Amino acid sequence: MVKSDIEIAQASPMTAITDIATKAGISSDDIEQYGKYKAKITFEALDKLQQNDNGKLILVTAINPTPAGEGKSTVTIGLGDALKQLGHQAMIALREPSLGPVMGIKGGAAGGGYAQVLPMEDINLHFTGDLHAITTANNAIAALLDNHIHQGNALNIDPRRVIWKRVVDLNDRELRQIIAGLGSPVNGVPREDGFDITVASEIMAVFCLATSIENLKARLAKIVVAYTYDRMPVTVGDLEIQGAITVLLKDALKPNLVQTIEGTPAFVHGGPFANIAHGCNSVLATTAALKAADFTVTEAGFGADLGGEKFLDIKTRELPKHPDAVVIVATVRALKMNGGVAKADLAAENTSALRAGFANLNRHIDNIQGYGLPVVVAINEFVTDTAEEIAILSELLTAKNVDFSLTQVWAKGGAGGLDLAEKVVKATEKSSDFHYLYELEASIPEKIETIVTKIYGGASVTLTKKAQTQIATFERNGWDKLPICMAKTQYSFSDDQNLLGAPEGFDITIRELVPKLGAGFIVALTGDIMTMPGLPKKPAALNMDVDNAGHISGLF
Ligand code: ADP
Repeated sequence: MVKSDIEIAQASPMTAITDIATKAGISSDDIEQYGKYKAKITFEALDKLQQNDNGKLILVTAINPTPAGEGKSTVTIGLGDALKQLGHQAMIALREPSLGPVMGIKGGAAGGGYAQVLPMEDINLHFTGDLHAITTANNAIAALLDNHIHQGNALNIDPRRVIWKRVVDLNDRELRQIIAGLGSPVNGVPREDGFDITVASEIMAVFCLATSIENLKARLAKIVVAYTYDRMPVTVGDLEIQGAITVLLKDALKPNLVQTIEGTPAFVHGGPFANIAHGCNSVLATTAALKAADFTVTEAGFGADLGGEKFLDIKTRELPKHPDAVVIVATVRALKMNGGVAKADLAAENTSALRAGFANLNRHIDNIQGYGLPVVVAINEFVTDTAEEIAILSELLTAKNVDFSLTQVWAKGGAGGLDLAEKVVKATEKSSDFHYLYELEASIPEKIETIVTKIYGGASVTLTKKAQTQIATFERNGWDKLPICMAKTQYSFSDDQNLLGAPEGFDITIRELVPKLGAGFIVALTGDIMTMPGLPKKPAALNMDVDNAGHISGLF
């Protein structure tokens, strides 16, 4: 019988985290241990690492996923292990899981099979408390803001124009829209409000883009939380609370060090979703890995249209270097789904759907090559893939003249990714001609149109009246020279999750824009994308349990 992810993880012996740190060239004095197998690295260690040269950076992204996830984290981890097996000094930089999907559709998010980061239960649950710190920091702003209004409102904040929401790290549709402050005058000022999931909060984005405590504080101060009755923006700096909020985040900001099943050092730090936020782990963790290792393998969430685009157009602007190569993960089953097969029928061979669904991978390859970066496709092999399907996919990729590798890291760990690792190393030696998709100087509508037409393959953009008014305000406020963070469904290139494959000629509606000045980007909300997800009919939580010894089962 095939073992579950958690069974494999629990059967894997771990090395003391001090030894893992040593492997990464970080002394045991430079880490703060959270038990035996988890640690944060200190700011002093981060400073020391700055003196090192940058290693090579490999970005792992993917085709449009199916609801189950297609193995990006698994391939990221397996590729790191494979590079280590080839004798390279490799590190991995991943996002921290959110409890929303862990309890909801997905179960764990620490890789899969024999390519996992450990201790997987901790990483999937409370880990080192970063998500709690981010939630608390976010909600402290909300409480201090409402208190400011209650205590006389010296800043003249219009309670109807408070844009700062409270957050919780769960999928909880009940909280999307609420009325807060009900009761009597002692209970605050009644106003419409709502919760987002923590990973969608600007604090998470700021946390992931900050380069130091001072930089974090400066970014926090710039966050716009509300508007006055005269429609002037009110920031965290106006409330004079950036110091307090930084205090709440200072420990969380240190990257978390863990290990893979094969003992490769891995940073797991920060975790915005890629559909409603920017989708990449912290700049501090990626930078530390770049300085500590010869090869850093990192992942961006969902498909290359979302996490990939945001990595390259948002995160890369904050990193010491751009990626040297990009791995696009594809699976036969996700391609078949993109070719029109229903989820229930994915196990059956279907070569015509595979050929049709290839259009999705094809466009992602073109898009990444369009950034001037070398691409290697990783076919993440599933036991249900047939020899005929693999042969057809290989033929299509050969005809496309792109490097590819059939990987079995889920089944075999690093040993299943050696060919991929060799091809990736070669790709990083090629000269790249990286350029951003758009210039920051372009207008907000121009930037959105570039993403929609060049990356999504769409024909046009419709801005609602609200979005148009907002753009005019943002231009007046001088906020229009920032990158754009699109909030869009992960399942399709378009804003309609049912349009799979490589749709063309569609229009994307921008419903609303949200200034995230601390993060340093403008969020563009498309279609009906939610910043607070709901739970499915049968949430993953129904399978979970723990015995008297504290032994967890069913996490995935
Ligand atoms: P993503 O990062 O794309 O969301 P993950 O790497 O988290 O995907 O994998 C999602 C789930 O799919 C995990 O439970 C993992 O064990 C499983 N999985 C990944 N690759 C394979 C594979 N080749 N065969 C079977 N299951 C896999």
